[in-house]
Amino acid sequence: MRFLTKTSLVALFSLLAAIVLVLGACAPAAPPKPEPTPPGMINSVLGPVSPDKLGWTLIHEHFCFAYPGWFADATIAPYDREAALQTGLKVCETLKAIGIQTIVDPTPNDTGGRDPLLYKELAKRTGINIICTTGLYTEHEGSPAYWKTRMPFGTDISKMIAEMMIKEITEGIGTTGVKAGAIKIGSSPVLTDYEKAVHKAAVMAQKATGVPIITHTEGPTGGVEQADFLIAQGADPKRVVIGHVSNSKDINYHREILKRGVYIAFDRLGLAPLYGVPDEVSVENIATLCKEGYANRVMMSHDTVNYWVGRPIEVPEQILKLLGNWRIDHISKDLIPALKAKGVTDEQIRTMMVDNPRNLFSGK
Ligand SMILES: [Zn+2]
Repeated sequence: MRFLTKTSLVALFSLLAAIVLVLGACAPAAPPKPEPTPPGMINSVLGPVSPDKLGWTLIHEHFCFAYPGWFADATIAPYDREAALQTGLKVCETLKAIGIQTIVDPTPNDTGGRDPLLYKELAKRTGINIICTTGLYTEHEGSPAYWKTRMPFGTDISKMIAEMMIKEITEGIGTTGVKAGAIKIGSSPVLTDYEKAVHKAAVMAQKATGVPIITHTEGPTGGVEQADFLIAQGADPKRVVIGHVSNSKDINYHREILKRGVYIAFDRLGLAPLYGVPDEVSVENIATLCKEGYANRVMMSHDTVNYWVGRPIEVPEQILKLLGNWRIDHISKDLIPALKAKGVTDEQIRTMMVDNPRNLFSGK
């Protein structure tokens, strides 16, 4: 200690200060803050796009997906980006061939497969508009533990989740610079406390940003409760689409949700047979709803997963048969002709596939 005179201490501090300054200068500069999205425009993965430019839209398809836990399977390479890219390119080429111009990919944050830079590359290379989302999945199929750990201490997780959603919508997802264009949430047949907190957050984020809320419902029920909860929190019904109503055969269930003024999405066409709802039943219900004047509140999609992240899912032959039409062009090739045969007009089909997604995003 006796060697550290006052002068040498000053010299030492000066040296340390200089080192800190040099290190600071070498640190990578923070990415520039993105430009705010102009009023009336939507966040596509390539930047702002006018709702009028969406055209024919599939409101619910996944380029890549994995259920939570995929990251624990370290015995295999979980994500082959090149394979996902090649699959995505094929999907986009198929879409172009059938005239679909926009895909909304509502993969939530807490599952696997949300890859904003992949979407960006796909959109750039193929010209398909892609809109991705921010949000959290259901309690039993998402990754709620991170947020739920805070709930017993009285923490307002809705506020935290809303902050996360707003950041992804206004500034971008992570360091990708890609902004989310909608909010994705999911509910169990009876909303759990955690799911209520997430729904509340989604409404807070919608109020702050104006983007639509796209939902997942479980089984053949839950849509009415979900719509009621969102509206009670102050959501704009014109900017809410209750998803997976094709899990139900019951047209009265569809009508009950529609009475709330929200959109409904028959967005598991080709997949719903797995849940005991043949596409013929959904076609019949959609045609009836069109006759009743609801064409301006119905959307259609497939909920395809085009690349599974992680270990391939082994599906028995019997189940594969039920999923024979679970493909990205099923609506265009098979179901639109079937709807026309039931008396649905070209204008009503255009309303469901073009006008409704546009109006959902513009809140009209
Ligand atoms: Zn989905």
